[in-house]
Amino acid sequence: MSDNVCYVDAYARSVEARVRAVEPSAEAGRGALVLLDRTVFYPGGGGQPADRGVLRTADGRTWHVVAARKAGDEIWHELEPGEEPPAPGGLDGSAAAAIFTADLDWDRRLALMRTHTALHALCGVVWRDYGALVTGGNMEPGGGRMDFEFERMSGELVGAIETTVNEELLRARDVRVNVLPRDEAFAIPDLIRTKINLLPEGIEQIRTIEIVGLDLQADGGTHVANTREVGTIRVTGYESKGRINKRIRMELVRPA
Ligand SMILES: [Zn+2]
Repeated sequence: MSDNVCYVDAYARSVEARVRAVEPSAEAGRGALVLLDRTVFYPGGGGQPADRGVLRTADGRTWHVVAARKAGDEIWHELEPGEEPPAPGGLDGSAAAAIFTADLDWDRRLALMRTHTALHALCGVVWRDYGALVTGGNMEPGGGRMDFEFERMSGELVGAIETTVNEELLRARDVRVNVLPRDEAFAIPDLIRTKINLLPEGIEQIRTIEIVGLDLQADGGTHVANTREVGTIRVTGYESKGRINKRIRMELVRPA
């Protein structure tokens, strides 16, 4: 099982690790895969894309990581296509595994953390003020979209939502990560709306992200520690995906 620091400390930018396994490129245009014993790379999921960054050794060699992904409990790092992966074990061919530094593209990750937290603030406001459930979402660094079961959404409401979300962000609310036993999580009414009941039975621990006083969701992503780090948002569009399903698009206003 890969030890991933990102789930407990979203601000960890790098970690020292050893290569446990390497898979050569499976197809043309795809990079080789590297499994480390520890990492800081978020493997993607819940609408948040996987991290990018580099693996480095003390002697100055560098490998570019274009994505990370989860396979079972392991997190694999995908190298740029064509890059020769490092060998497991020592760099000089000895048996003792060499130390690598796994280093995030931090500007991109921080933009994703701010964006992800902004989207939760949007969900929190839409739920609290309009009772609308979120059905999905996606993001890139600096912007994203959320889909809601929100029959009466209109351009006017969207303007009001933008104003309220920005007021909430500027209240400097703390953002907390918690891990709860499954039955405890199921007893929290607020979590029902994120369709916690769809989580596979085998999952015993539920990780939650709480914007204190505004929003609580079961979530695997990385977030900033306080909403003041988000700055403000702008709603850039909304559209109907059917009679009930509506999509709201937003972006961050303040540069990181
Ligand atoms: Zn989320």
